[in-house]
Amino acid sequence: SDNFFDIAAACFPADADSSFIELESGRRYSYRDLMEISGRYARLLAELGVAKGDRVAVQVEKSAEAVFLYLACLRAGAAYLPLNTAYTKAEVGYFLGDAEPKVFVCPPGNEAALADTAKGAGVGNLLTLGTGGDGSLADRAAGLDPEFDTVACAADDLAAILYTSGTTGRSKGAMMSHRNLSSNAATLHRIWGFRPDDVLLHALPIFHTHGLFVATNCVLMNGTGMLFLGKFDPDAVFRLLPRATVMMGVPTFYTRLLADPRLTPEAAAHMRLFISGSAPLLADTHREFRERTGHAILERYGMTETGMLTSNPLDGDRIPGTVGFPLPEVSVRVADEKTGEPVAEGGIGVLEVKGPNVFSGYWRMPEKTAQEIRPGGWFITGDVGRIDERGYVHIIGRAKDLVISGGFNVYPKEVETVIDGIDGVVESAVIGIPHPDFGEAVMAVVLRRPGAAVDEAAVVGACREQLANFKVPKAVAFVDELPRNAMGKVQKNLLREANKGRFG
Ligand code: ATP
Ligand code: MG
Repeated sequence: SDNFFDIAAACFPADADSSFIELESGRRYSYRDLMEISGRYARLLAELGVAKGDRVAVQVEKSAEAVFLYLACLRAGAAYLPLNTAYTKAEVGYFLGDAEPKVFVCPPGNEAALADTAKGAGVGNLLTLGTGGDGSLADRAAGLDPEFDTVACAADDLAAILYTSGTTGRSKGAMMSHRNLSSNAATLHRIWGFRPDDVLLHALPIFHTHGLFVATNCVLMNGTGMLFLGKFDPDAVFRLLPRATVMMGVPTFYTRLLADPRLTPEAAAHMRLFISGSAPLLADTHREFRERTGHAILERYGMTETGMLTSNPLDGDRIPGTVGFPLPEVSVRVADEKTGEPVAEGGIGVLEVKGPNVFSGYWRMPEKTAQEIRPGGWFITGDVGRIDERGYVHIIGRAKDLVISGGFNVYPKEVETVIDGIDGVVESAVIGIPHPDFGEAVMAVVLRRPGAAVDEAAVVGACREQLANFKVPKAVAFVDELPRNAMGKVQKNLLREANKGRFG
């Protein structure tokens, strides 16, 4: 069938004893464990009445069992719905009410606190799953037959609902089909040249497309193993790099590794490939990493709604500050935000995409879906970018972050690039804040290197020298760190909120 599990299972190793997941503790789970545990979990779901298309919402800490639960949902024909572990009770209540899952799985320690929330949202089955294979779900599944006939699914059937990160507003539930998952997994596995001896170092969360559909699905398609960290921890990463060949990370992983004296060519000698995504990787980070290790980080770009869209090449130039070429079966065009007309070659506009990886719509938001997917199937990403003469895609920022000051468009990235180039500046975030005369005023929030003497005059001076007047910040603030979410994305909404009163 077109069930993604069947497609992945066809790639599993002949030797079922080979390792799938190895935890930091050294505990290993083989492909046999994968089949048996996911089989038992799928059987339990079926016994609970979970049928095709039913949602199974899951907010648990990262564990091998959580991966098996994801696979069990696919096998049972259910829609897997992972939730960020940072979501509060009130947020979980919203998501449960929105998704109406048949089953909700939480950590054993949260059961009491979430029982009313689940009940209030009409969820009939509240089960628990701990990181040590404990919890009521694991207990109830333990005695069941591990043999389970995976439910046949069509390519268009719902495989998962993933909520977006909520960087620009309330998270939306993206409905992902089996085709969405299989097409992207097969493509990434191929273009990144996965090999039979690859070992992936997995330090990402698994409630997000990056750690779940990019990292885990590539490993499944390769039938090999991963070293599975509960979270990104430099000590563990340096301990395990000599055994790994591929690492996928968000940009903050790489800046944290760069800040560590243990990052040397020797430390990365066994590695084949470092991949970055989910947020922009500074060109400086790319260059410094290359100088320190000899590795050119491969940056790619994607979204919850689409999976991966573009990638720098495995063989060929990985250009710092670009996200590479559209994936083989993905079309990317640059359109005028207002008219939707493609812009002239090389021009800047909103990226629109099309392909078998693009979702079918937002869960229970038909108007939103209609607004963002054009009749011809082009999905409006909301990211502003351009495609250069060599075909590399450049992300300039989000359309929602565009600042309009005195009627002029200011792309924050252009201003950030100038500020980041000042000696003593680590990074910056440029935002628009309400201004009585200009509508919006450009504001720069800047992070300095410890002890650096950069002040407001230096920031404004550098911008005056290199940019048109309307792009020069009218306010500058210095901070100890930029607010980021779990995926390393700068939360400009928080910066805008905190500074909205500056000009009255
Ligand atoms: P929301 O849609 O809820 O506001 P979000 O867009 O941050 O949140 P995700 O789907 O997790 O949620 O992230 C997709 C976005 O991440 C892309 O639209 C893009 O803005 C950004 N992104 C991903 N990879 C890159 C990259 N390599 N460079 C720059 N931006 C990236
Ligand atoms: Mg988004």
